[in-house]
Amino acid sequence: MELEFRGGAGEVGRSALLIDETLLVDFGMDSGNPPSFPVGDVDPEAIVVSHGHLDHVGSLPSLLSGDARPEIHWTPPTRDLAMVLARDTLKLHGVSSNGPTQRGGTYDCPFTEAEVARVSQVSETHGYREPFEVAGYEVTFFDAGHIVGSAHVLIDDGETRLLYTGDFQAEDQQLVERTTARPDADIVVCESTYSDTTRAPRGTIEDSFVESVEGTIWEGGTVVVPAFAIGRTQELLCLCEQHDLECYVDGMGKRVTELFLRERNREFLRDPDLLRRAKGNARFVTGRDGQRKRIAEKNTVIVTTSGMLHGGPAMTYVPEVRSHPVNKIAMTGYQVEGTPGRDLLETGSAELDGRMMPVSAQVEAYDFSAHADRGGVLEFLESYRETEVLVVHGDRCEAFASELADSGFDASAPVVGDTWTSAD
Ligand SMILES: [Zn+2]
Repeated sequence: MELEFRGGAGEVGRSALLIDETLLVDFGMDSGNPPSFPVGDVDPEAIVVSHGHLDHVGSLPSLLSGDARPEIHWTPPTRDLAMVLARDTLKLHGVSSNGPTQRGGTYDCPFTEAEVARVSQVSETHGYREPFEVAGYEVTFFDAGHIVGSAHVLIDDGETRLLYTGDFQAEDQQLVERTTARPDADIVVCESTYSDTTRAPRGTIEDSFVESVEGTIWEGGTVVVPAFAIGRTQELLCLCEQHDLECYVDGMGKRVTELFLRERNREFLRDPDLLRRAKGNARFVTGRDGQRKRIAEKNTVIVTTSGMLHGGPAMTYVPEVRSHPVNKIAMTGYQVEGTPGRDLLETGSAELDGRMMPVSAQVEAYDFSAHADRGGVLEFLESYRETEVLVVHGDRCEAFASELADSGFDASAPVVGDTWTSAD
């Protein structure tokens, strides 16, 4: 077996792993400015996808250009999320005004509307622990506990068993249970996003978030909760439901909430009934007729995209609530350097919609990560002490690999462009 790291190795974003030039695992994009894509040309027979985040599926439709029609294998929620993200990318780059066969209005859009439409023609969905044959390999998905439908991918060519962890979480979340599967493997490609972070237990973080929100509501303030659309928004709606907190939800998270509750996706939820109740508890904002400004005046909780304050309805809510110290802005995810969200946390002001805005409202941060922390990654890898480990998907892959090597692992950290070949 030969592995080629085409993206997401020694970095986070644009994940892509090519096996024997035949089978592609993930094909993401990095939405930075400018965006970046997996390197080199690929012409795979088939693709398997670990989960529906942009950095794992963002470039997929571009594989369906010309006559190319490789099958795409994934879980039903991953398929649905990939379609939402692909359409959002088209919208972001203004493609609809250019007609169905034109690339996006900017150079940065990697695919066309026609290519996105072809995704459903080549899509094959699978549940967890249901092995299937693809391009001469036996492939099995195992629940990775990261987001709804996320999978560890086991790929067996008859001689070598590759376990690609994808992103995973070792603690239970509201939407999904933690990873527990540890299938036998000869080589593990492991994510390491938080290999140097030790987090408080999830329940403790949830409790302090709820307590803080309740305090602000009690004092008569408004709480704006910027949140990623996929997973994070729904986690927060579940918390609001469980603690009888009235809330509004705005942005792409609304569509994703509905998508998770579709019949075919419900079995991938830890507790479908909880999310159904959470949806019932939340008021969906349409944004018509100045509705957002009126909601921002209310003594309530507003869960809204974007999670890092670089767009979305948060651009209306944050300016509306920022001047009053009784209000609160509760950040709920990792803030990439250079984003308004990061600036707000570090300096107390942020540039929103081109205007520098000082914020007098309280600003807090809660680490609701969907990734395992250092302890979680080590706990996972404990089952693979006798297995070669390739560390990817992190900002310090090499450092983590050498820490693993120091504790007896056979570990290394490939970078983009590297290949790995099995010994036999
Ligand atoms: Zn992810």
